[in-house]
Amino acid sequence: MDAAPKRVSILGATGSIGASTAALLEAAAPGRFSVGALVAGRDAVRLAELARRLSAEFAVVADPAAYRPLKEALSGSGIEAAAGPDAVTEAAARGADWTMAAIVGAAGLGPTLAAARDGRAIALANKEVLVSAGELFLDAARASGATILPVDSEHNAIFQAMGGRSAEGVEKIVLTASGGPFRTWTREQMAAVTPEMAVKHPVWSMGAKISVDSATMFNKGLEIIEAARLFALPEEAIGVLVHPQSTVHGLVHFADGSVVAQLGSPDMRTPIAHALAWPRRMAAAVKPLDLAALGRLEFFPPDEERFPALRLARAALRAGRGAPAVLNAANEVAVSRFLDRRLPFLAIAEVVERTLEALGAPPLPDLAAVLALDSEARRVAAGFCDALAA
Ligand code: NAD
Ligand code: MG
Repeated sequence: MDAAPKRVSILGATGSIGASTAALLEAAAPGRFSVGALVAGRDAVRLAELARRLSAEFAVVADPAAYRPLKEALSGSGIEAAAGPDAVTEAAARGADWTMAAIVGAAGLGPTLAAARDGRAIALANKEVLVSAGELFLDAARASGATILPVDSEHNAIFQAMGGRSAEGVEKIVLTASGGPFRTWTREQMAAVTPEMAVKHPVWSMGAKISVDSATMFNKGLEIIEAARLFALPEEAIGVLVHPQSTVHGLVHFADGSVVAQLGSPDMRTPIAHALAWPRRMAAAVKPLDLAALGRLEFFPPDEERFPALRLARAALRAGRGAPAVLNAANEVAVSRFLDRRLPFLAIAEVVERTLEALGAPPLPDLAAVLALDSEARRVAAGFCDALAA
């Protein structure tokens, strides 16, 4: 047994990844973990309930208007409450041994960077941070000595398959993709996709934004960029295979012809538990993988004609500098318009493509430049959304 519990903070505690992390903490052996800060966007009641259940020290909401309900819901608990973006960043910098970075979208940029500067272990779910500000985030982690533990299931699989070693001898890696709910649909069929259809994922249960990303395959596009950053690999060394059973999560091809893969039931508790216990292991209570019951595993090449997101993400990665940040911001704007029923499904990729054409790949020397480009890309993308409105 470790002498002291591992002190854990969760950024994005009320979301899908946050809830799975909380479930693992609740089920863990007493004394193995303690909880520092829990951070959420605006759901004060849910956050307070979670903070009480996990005996957290500190609960923070990003939305200042949610301060009063949070304070009320925590009254008598002894748990500190705070609100506002500065309080979020402060909570992220408060010195946990292990921080789950699971805020959705570029909103997680500042807090995740703050956690990286603090220099402990960062379990990284928020892929948008690596896409928009990959170099800054990795530089901050290198400077502070922080360990980055990939939580995205494919990247966690690659991390495991590499066995903790460098990319030496790695010829290529392969990320698998479920293909989403419209894997076999024609473009004509996809033209009529509604938000309800897009958020209903066939295999994974996730937040709304990443579910839409899965349906457009922008999720896999973001993951190609995420993998390039995490494993320092060029674009052409990162392959994608459509694998509807979502059982093989990632594969590493080595120079000697060996291919090492990680398998598991499609349940985010597995990669989260891997990161939480790392370098040890812990129970995650997931459904055991039964390959005989599954019978077969299928793999198909992705179709970049029906899913232009993959082509756009590869182009942005090759262009480098600010292009991935532009792609991410434009996608966030387009997805939110689509969820509000103000943009047709197929227009999401079109908005991203037009925004990339308009803004190119400007240099990104620092966080201020990232944030400025992010706002500019959102403004430009919003204009294209208006032009293509449903
Ligand atoms: P979600 O929408 O379920 O949860 C998002 C969380 O972020 C919530 O707690 C929300 O309150 C919080 N939040 C939103 N805006 C905020 C702000 N401005 N400040 C502070 N907190 C804010 O999303 P999710 O599905 O849990 O995904 C979280 C991240 O993990 C995303 O980047 C996603 O791409 C990534 N990811 C998720 C999965 C999955 O299975 N859900 C898998 C791989 C990667
Ligand atoms: Mg993934």
